[in-house]
Amino acid sequence: MAPSVLVVEDNPTNMRLFADLLRAVGYDVHQASDAEGALKTLATHIPKAILMDIQLPGISGMECTRQIKSDPRLKDVPIIAVTAFAMAGDETRFRAAGCDDYLSKPITVAAFLEKVAYHVGQAPDAES
Ligand code: MN
Repeated sequence: MAPSVLVVEDNPTNMRLFADLLRAVGYDVHQASDAEGALKTLATHIPKAILMDIQLPGISGMECTRQIKSDPRLKDVPIIAVTAFAMAGDETRFRAAGCDDYLSKPITVAAFLEKVAYHVGQAPDAES
């Protein structure tokens, strides 16, 4: 079974890019455009990793991450923060909120896929 990745991203262009890249290498992609949608998906499905846009409308990606990491069912799911911020010190804030890793936009395809693969811990085409 293909490992699943939840992508939380409100920008449709970024969402399409991330979903296309992940599907192209064999992941099962779930999508949410805001924190509420992410939490709704996570109520019934536990992915292998979550890509979390930090700048979301309404509840921020930081707050969504805190909520996920405070849930015993979900706390071990790796969360990769995705953000346009390029300011020094941000990574510390993301990690304090519970993010396991960090990617800045614009992403590079190789780094993006490497990070996801590392946190999923399973090749997308692996037999299981
Ligand atoms: Mn955004």
